[in-house]
Amino acid sequence: MSQGLINMAYIGATILFILALGGLSKQETARRGNILGMIGMGIALVVTVVGLVTRNYELLFGAMIIGGIIGFVAAKKVEMTQMPELVAILHSLVGLAAMLVGYANFLSHAVEYVGVEKTIHDIETYLGILIGSLTFSGSVVAYLKLSGKWGGKPLLLPARHWLNLILLILAIYFGYAFVIETASGNGIQPLIFMTVIALLFGIHMVAAIGGADMPVVVSMLNSYSGWAAAALGFMLANDLLIVIGALVGSSGAILSYIMCRAMNRNFISVIAGGFGTGTSSTGPAIEVEGEVIATSAEELASQLTSAKEVMIIPGYGMAVAQAQHMVSDIAKILRKKNVNVRFGIHPVAGRMPGHMNVLLAEAKVPYDIVFEMDEINEDFPKVDVSIVIGANDIVNPAAQEVPDSPIAGMPVLEPWNGKRTIVLKRGMATGYAGVENPLFYKENTRMLFGDARDSLEAVFRAIDS
Ligand code: NDP
Repeated sequence: MSQGLINMAYIGATILFILALGGLSKQETARRGNILGMIGMGIALVVTVVGLVTRNYELLFGAMIIGGIIGFVAAKKVEMTQMPELVAILHSLVGLAAMLVGYANFLSHAVEYVGVEKTIHDIETYLGILIGSLTFSGSVVAYLKLSGKWGGKPLLLPARHWLNLILLILAIYFGYAFVIETASGNGIQPLIFMTVIALLFGIHMVAAIGGADMPVVVSMLNSYSGWAAAALGFMLANDLLIVIGALVGSSGAILSYIMCRAMNRNFISVIAGGFGTGTSSTGPAIEVEGEVIATSAEELASQLTSAKEVMIIPGYGMAVAQAQHMVSDIAKILRKKNVNVRFGIHPVAGRMPGHMNVLLAEAKVPYDIVFEMDEINEDFPKVDVSIVIGANDIVNPAAQEVPDSPIAGMPVLEPWNGKRTIVLKRGMATGYAGVENPLFYKENTRMLFGDARDSLEAVFRAIDS
């Protein structure tokens, strides 16, 4: 395949990726965005295999088939609630690839560079392995934390900021040593030292982050995996990989910024770790006044049918219970009875950015009744009934009322300002951040205990009868 044709195909793929990102910015166009991205990736893959690879086809196709089968089976098997873990572990693979390609690139002398070009190439290799290693180990810890195999509490080593600073200085020092030593054909030692440092830094960075701040880490690692791919592009002199890496890296960085703003956190402080700790890191220490009052599905059904304004607040528990279709049916039947039903979505509801939007779109809830937190938070005083479905941290008034709470300062949805709040959950367990929720004890709150889907089915039957 001629170089001109390869370049043309790469430009086409790049345009498709940009259109894909544009499409993904709105729910209505997300499906189209995904399809454009898949076509772009298909073109990139075919052109790279046909145009650039000249030997070792058995190895390439063997790896592609094995990787493809593993990916297919994993994607088929994974539950919607395990999606964030899958994303985290996939990020770790991008990091691992960057790390290994960096070493292969360093050890292979297929292309010999000289002078400034050599220095630039060495720096690219060094940075590629550095970003790759920390993305790899950080994503593995994120995977362990998201899957509950590693506790949600932040690891707070004494003088951790100094430790980070020392690791950074060492990484810069070894970078300098690497560039000097490669001139005389060495350099493997500083490279290995730096890899160990980067792996440790990745582990420490994610381990130091508290439960409620994990969304920022997930989007940050997403960004890092993009930069790792861009570094791979530099090492392999592949323009398409550089562009795609930069697109993923920068969109991940923007997402991290949006998540930080949504949670009222300072980006640098979250990266430095130790956020999400507070003095009452497990929550129950706060004094909660009032009592928990249970209600029934029939009572909720009658309140819903006699209400004019209903707000539905979905959370992680809705994903666990797979209750989105039942929620959609209830919204439909209430709308037929002229009840104004709206959905309030918190930016970090669930376990990944956009988690609730994906589930509601799957259940065909119309987009125009789904609102972001900022759009509807002031409307709660007009709301007759708010139904909180398997949500906890995102509706926790402790974020505003308890200054030393681990979630202090995080903006939350405020159903307690409405006339009545009904919370659907199985028991009195805390949410992801492990913080007691005073909402459950408020005078105008009622609890409907049980699996969210079972409860909603009973509510639906009562409304329909
Ligand atoms: P939470 O994790 O705070 O609360 C979920 C609640 O759902 C639990 O209290 C649980 O209570 C209930 N629940 C679980 N299963 C069921 C079920 N089958 N039926 C009914 N209820 C159920 O979720 P939120 O969505 O409120 O908050 C998200 C949290 O996750 C935030 O702290 C956020 O920072 C964090 N996070 C978010 C990420 C993101 O990108 N969105 C990524 C990583 C973390 P019970 O067991 O009593 O039923």
